[in-house]
Amino acid sequence: MHTLSIGELAQKLAAKQISSLELTDHFLERLSRLNPALNAVITPTVDLARAQAAAADRRRSAGESGPLLGIPLIHKDIFCTEGVRTSCGSRMLDNFVSPYDATVVSRLRCAGAVMLGKSNMDEFAMGSSNETSYYGPVKNPWDLTKVPGGSSGGSAAALAAGLAAFATGTDTGGSIRQPAALTGVVGFKPTYGRVSRYGMIAFASSLDQAGTFTRSAQDAAIVLQAMAGFDPKDSTSVDRPVPDYQGLLGAPLKGLKIGLLQEFFEGLDERNGALIHAALAEFRKLGATTCEVSLPNLPLSVPTYYVVAPAECSSNLSRFDGVRFGYRCEDPKDLMDLYKRSRGEGFGAEVKRRIMTGTYVLSAGYYDAYYLKAQKIRQLITDDFRRAFESVDMLIGPTTPTPAFAIGAKVDDPITMYLNDIYTIGANLAGLPAVSLPCGFVDSLPMGLQLVGPHFAEDSLLNAAHGYQQVTDWHRRTPAGYA
Ligand code: GLN
Repeated sequence: MHTLSIGELAQKLAAKQISSLELTDHFLERLSRLNPALNAVITPTVDLARAQAAAADRRRSAGESGPLLGIPLIHKDIFCTEGVRTSCGSRMLDNFVSPYDATVVSRLRCAGAVMLGKSNMDEFAMGSSNETSYYGPVKNPWDLTKVPGGSSGGSAAALAAGLAAFATGTDTGGSIRQPAALTGVVGFKPTYGRVSRYGMIAFASSLDQAGTFTRSAQDAAIVLQAMAGFDPKDSTSVDRPVPDYQGLLGAPLKGLKIGLLQEFFEGLDERNGALIHAALAEFRKLGATTCEVSLPNLPLSVPTYYVVAPAECSSNLSRFDGVRFGYRCEDPKDLMDLYKRSRGEGFGAEVKRRIMTGTYVLSAGYYDAYYLKAQKIRQLITDDFRRAFESVDMLIGPTTPTPAFAIGAKVDDPITMYLNDIYTIGANLAGLPAVSLPCGFVDSLPMGLQLVGPHFAEDSLLNAAHGYQQVTDWHRRTPAGYA
C-alpha cells in the first residue's frame, strides 16, 4: 500500500476496497515502527490524522470525490499548522503552536488530504544535509549512515521509506530537488509565485517556494493542482489561472527541445554524467531533440545566492526576539540581555552564521560591494536563462554533484556544504520551475536528473517527466527494508 501512487490509492478508496482510516492507520503503524531509526518526522499527529481520515471517509460516503480525498501526507515543519507545534527545526520555535494554517496546509486539508505529522528539516531551512536541525539529523533510508539531503530531508526520507503517500517541502536554493535526488523520489519546485507562501516561515522571501515530494510526476501534478493558485494573503502570489496539470499529461514529446546545460557537465563525475546521457537517450527515443546550451553566468550562482539568501534571512529572522513568541531565555536582566540571550540560545550555529553574513553584506560600506553586486549578477543569470529559453523548451542537468554523503562528512566545512547546491540554486535566483527525477544509481545510492523550464512551464515539465517515467522505472525502486 505504501508504495502505491496517489492515483492508485485514490482508486482503492473510490472502489471502497479500503477506507481512509485504514490507510491512515497503515501509515501511522509504519511511522511508529520505522521513524525512530530515521528521525524523519518530529511531530506525529496521530489523533488529528485519524480524525481527518474519518472526516474524509464521511465526505466520501456523502458522495464527494477527489484525487486527494483521504490520502495521507506529511508536511515539512516550516508550514504553520493550526494547533500543532511548528518548530521550523529550531529550538527558537520548539514551543511554538501556530494559531493558523499556512495556505498550502489549508488547501490540502480542504482537498481532503490527511496530515500524519510534521517532518524534520534543517533549522529554518538552512542546510543541504538535514544536519542543522535542533532535533538531530535525518537518516537516509537507502543507507542510514548517509544524509538524506536538505533542507526538506525529513519529507524526502519519510516518503522514500513509505511513511506517507506524499509530502510537502520548500525550495529556496534546492531544498526540494536535492533531497528528492538523494532519496530517489520526485521533487517539484514550482515557479516563484505559483504557490502561496502565506504561513510558510520565511527564510529568503524572494527565493522561497513551496512544492511537492511524490513517487511520480503524475502524483506531483495531482498535488500541485491542489496547492497552486492565487492567494490574496501573499502579495507575491501570482494571479493567473492554474492549468489542468493532470489532464495535460500524456502529450507526445515529439519536437520537444531539451538543452544540455553545458556548465553543469564540466567536471561532472563520469558516472553521474552517464546517467543523464542515458536519460537523454530515452527522451530522444520519445521524439525530443537535444542540443548544448551555455549559461555563462550560471557558475556565479553559488556565491550570488550565499549573499542574497543570508541578507534576506538576517532581516526575516529579526522577528525572533524572545518577546512575542518562541524561545525566551531564563531571567533576563534587561531588554538587551533578553534579546541577546534569547537569540544566542535559541538559534543554532548555521543560522547564526547566516544572520552575521547577511547583516554584514547589508551594512553601510559593504552593501554596494556585496549585496548590490549580487543582485546585479542575479539579473545576469536570469537573463541567461531567458535567452536559453528562446531556443529550447527546457534545460536538463544533474540535480546534485554526488550521491548522498556520510553524516558528519561536510558539517564542519560550510563552503564545501554550500557547493552541494551548485546545480539547484540557479532556478531559484531566476524564479523558475524545476523538477528532480530519479534516474539511476551511483554506489548503490539514488541519483536525480533535473529539468528546468521557463516561468509557469509547470505543465510541460510535468509532461516531460511523466513521459520519461512511462518508459523507465527508476522512480519505482524502494530502499531495502522499506518495501
Ligand atoms: N542548501 C541551501 C541553503 O542552505 C538551500 C536551502 C533551501 O532551499 N531551503 O541555503
